[in-house]
Parts: sequence; C-alpha cells; structure tokens
Amino acid sequence: RAKQEGRNRFSFFSYDLENSIRERHQLELSLRNALLNDELLVFYQPKFDLTTKRIIGAEALVRLTGDDGIFISPTEFIPLAEETGLIIKLGQQVLSKACIEAKRWFDMGYVIPVSVNVAVAQFADPNLEHMIATALQESQLPAELLELEITETALMLDAEEMQTKLSQLKALGVTIAIDDFGTGYSSLAYLKKFNVDVMKIDMSFVKDMLNNKHDYEIVKTIISLGRSMELTLIAEGVETEAQRQALIELDCVMGQGYLFSRPLPANEFSDFILLTEHWV
Ligand code: C2E
Ligand code: MG
Ligand code: MG
Ligand code: MG
Repeated sequence: RAKQEGRNRFSFFSYDLENSIRERHQLELSLRNALLNDELLVFYQPKFDLTTKRIIGAEALVRLTGDDGIFISPTEFIPLAEETGLIIKLGQQVLSKACIEAKRWFDMGYVIPVSVNVAVAQFADPNLEHMIATALQESQLPAELLELEITETALMLDAEEMQTKLSQLKALGVTIAIDDFGTGYSSLAYLKKFNVDVMKIDMSFVKDMLNNKHDYEIVKTIISLGRSMELTLIAEGVETEAQRQALIELDCVMGQGYLFSRPLPANEFSDFILLTEHWV
C-alpha cells in the first residue's frame, strides 16, 4: 500500500530515499528519547589474559533499545550520533555509567579497568577533558582504572591539537588505547608521535588468521610492532580455541571475544566475575 501511495504522490524523492530518510529520522528520535530519559544501556565485555583466562579488563559498549524491544547496533547509531552532535551527551552518559560500574567492581574487591570508546567527533568538544575528569571525580574511580579507546582516524585530526588533547587526558592518569588497529590510515609516524599505551588488533585480522596466510602475517606484524614500541597488545574478536593458542604463540597475551564472553549487562558481568574466579 505504501509503495502505491509513494508512486501516486507527487514527490521529488524516490520511494527508497524517502524511506531511508524516515528510518534515519526515527532512529534519531529513538536516540534523543533514550538520552533524554537516560535509557541507554551499557554492556560490558570482559577482556582476558589468554593464558591464565583471568579477567584483566572490560570494555563498555552502549546499547539502544528500539521500539520493538530489539537492540539497535551501535554501528548504526554511533555514526548518526556523531553527525547530529548527540555523541557528546551519549559519550558522557556511557562514561559516567562505566566509571560508576568499575568503581562498584573495585569496591567488591576486583581491580578491573574499564575501557570506554571515544568517538572522533568527541575530540572536537572543548569540554572533553573536563567531562572525563568529572566522571572520575563523581564515581571516585581511580584514574588508572579508566582506559579510553580511540580509533586511528582520531589520530589523523590536527596533529598538534591531538597531541595536546591526548597529553591532557593522560595527565588525568587514564590509559589510551588505539582501537581496531590496522584498519585505519594512520602511519607509523602517528604512532610514534602520540604516546598511546595499548594497541587493539582489529578483529577482521584475527577472524581469518588461521585460514588466510596474509591475515596471519598481519597479526604477527602488528604484534611485533606493538612489542617494539612497548605497547600492551590485545586481540579483538577471539572466537576459537585455535585462535587463542595461535595468539599466545605469537606472544599476544590478552584478548576479548565470543570464545570467552559476549558483552553482558552490568548485573550479569558481576556474576561473571565471580564465576571466572574458578576457571582454570
Ligand atoms: P569496538 O569498539 O571495536 O567494539 C568491539 C565490537 O566487537 C563490539 O560490537 C563487540 O560486541 C564486538 N565483538 C566482541 N567480540 C566479538 C567476537 O568474538 N566476534 C565478533 N564478531 N564480534 C565481537 P558492538 O557492541 O556492536 O559495537 C560496535 C562498535 O560500535 C564498537 O566497536 C565501537 O566502535 C562502537 N561503540 C560501541 N559502544 C560505543 C560507545 O559507547 N561510544 C562510542 N563512541 N562508540 C561505541
Ligand atoms: Mg572499542
Ligand atoms: Mg575494536
Ligand atoms: Mg570495531
């Protein structure tokens, strides 16, 4: 019916374009409402020592519930949030929740750093440093237990400005990780210039490392690059036991992925901490 209506109506837009504009508008409304009512959820995916299988950290990942009750993927709404400026408020809400949660683990007796993704667009916000300082202060989370995950694209912003911003953030005591390493366009010169602490090997390379020789070599090269720059290395998207073994052999000692756990709601993550204490 809608299609017919579309055909008979006088319109400059094609049916598909009109539809995608409507969907986008709907998504923006959902996001605005969730931000307004503080309804965004934060899930936590544990990071592991690949050898001992102990939890060594957790990544905070935002979840938006659609009208149908089904989660909308952040890969859909994060770009929209960046374009509309809503990312500032989103980033603040996620950060605040993540710091409070990690402080709760800390108070339970578990020293588990939490990492929070920071979108490129957030670096345009002059209030970024203050926002992070406030989240730390309000939660009372020790700054050493907060890690910020940034992408290579962020490193390509104005170099001088980025250097200043990253030093300011590091001065707060937080750790900086480069997310999805190997997929962006940053040159090795950027890596040298910016004083980052952690390199996260993108899951696209890990995924095929055992059936594609090139992917294996890329993983191996990233690991040796990270090692020589004295960075902490972590592999994303570890899904199989064979990948875990191969990564250990390549001297990558940390990983996260479905082999260990999917991202979990906060209450399930706490239970998971207790459960894994007894893993061998
Ligand atoms: P990311 O930061 O690289 O996060 C890792 C993504 O990989 C997560 O997807 C996680 O659920 C997924 N993942 C983890 N282990 C596996 C695995 O073994 N196999 C596979 N296939 N996937 C795995 P998610 O939660 O859908 O998030 C997607 C992206 O959205 C994130 O990629 C990040 O770039 C962005 N994002 C998520 N939450 C936030 C946030 O709070 N702020 C910002 N700025 N970006 C966020
Ligand atoms: Mg990340
Ligand atoms: Mg990643
Ligand atoms: Mg990613």
